Amino acid sequence: MDKYYRLNKPECREFIAGLASKYKVVAPIKKGEKNYVFSEISSPDEIARGYIPTIIPPKKYFFPKRETLIEYDIRAQRQRAIMEYEKLIIFGVRTCDLAGIQCLNMVFSERPRDVNYLIRKNKLIIIGMECWDYCDEHAICGLMDNHQPKGGYDLFFSDMGDFHLIHVNTLVGEEIINSVGVFSPADEKDLEKLEKFREKKRKTFKSSMGISHQQLKDIFADAEDAKVWEDLGERCLSCGNCTTVCPTCYCFDVIDEINLDFKTGERFRIWDSCQNEDFAKVAGGESFREERKGRQMHRYMRKFKYPLKKYSRYFCTGCGRCSRACMADIRIKETIQEVIKEKGLSNEKAGIS
Ligand code: SF4
Ligand code: SF4
Repeated sequence: MDKYYRLNKPECREFIAGLASKYKVVAPIKKGEKNYVFSEISSPDEIARGYIPTIIPPKKYFFPKRETLIEYDIRAQRQRAIMEYEKLIIFGVRTCDLAGIQCLNMVFSERPRDVNYLIRKNKLIIIGMECWDYCDEHAICGLMDNHQPKGGYDLFFSDMGDFHLIHVNTLVGEEIINSVGVFSPADEKDLEKLEKFREKKRKTFKSSMGISHQQLKDIFADAEDAKVWEDLGERCLSCGNCTTVCPTCYCFDVIDEINLDFKTGERFRIWDSCQNEDFAKVAGGESFREERKGRQMHRYMRKFKYPLKKYSRYFCTGCGRCSRACMADIRIKETIQEVIKEKGLSNEKAGIS
């Protein structure tokens, strides 16, 4: 049976301070006017209130932007695999980002498994935090069905007004609860209150885009020739911001760098982007996606079409980061709306016979 605990608000400070005294804890903090970042905290006062998705999602902690894989010495014919990790608590992960982590887990668990990712991920403790309303006009988590918690955390906090209700999802989560004596078991009334909050939430998060989660796949099934890609191709600057901030984008490049002694060196991987001009370039200088419109189309298909075949889920969490980060004002909501307008909802797509 699911285990729930209660934590009164004044004791929440004690809980966070206790965690920060034992572990490295990272949480969303305010950065400038409207931006938030996951950063190490030493006091609960540093955690931002009412934060929206951080600039970079928590993926930076288990899939770092740049990571050494091997160090080698050519003369000695020696190489050493590098695996760096640390025990870390990520506090305040929203449901959209939990979904993003689940996507990356699927990708990096495929054979051959990505050991660096999996070991590092295993060392992390994830504490989720529920939202009760859309972050802003860019979020489409309702359409993507990622507004409700669906696992992927050790503990999950729901703010119930004067207390937090905490769902325990793993043994590690249970150990944390037991190690800090500030929690009390939740009772029936607490759970009824949670259900009432969730009922209200279901109404708040109704998709405003005129299509359902399931219909999205039909809309994108044959969207390769949609005209919207032309328009996006003309506006896109190929900066790669949208993929850098995306919680489900995981493309990387592997580079060998030799030191000035010409004997030793390292192999590292670094985030790459399908929006970069060189991304699909192969030997001989040919590129599979020379034009920006093709790269834009590819990005959307990698969210709403291709992963369905391989992973049976969309690879968009609905976090809205790509829209917030785009300097050319390319908005995911508008793009989807354009595709709907063009491809329409035929009776078949709408499920009407
Ligand atoms: S952030 Fe905007 S301009 Fe930059 S690559 Fe993505 S879509 Fe193009
Ligand atoms: S495509 Fe945009 S909205 Fe979807 S998960 Fe990536 S950044 Fe978030």
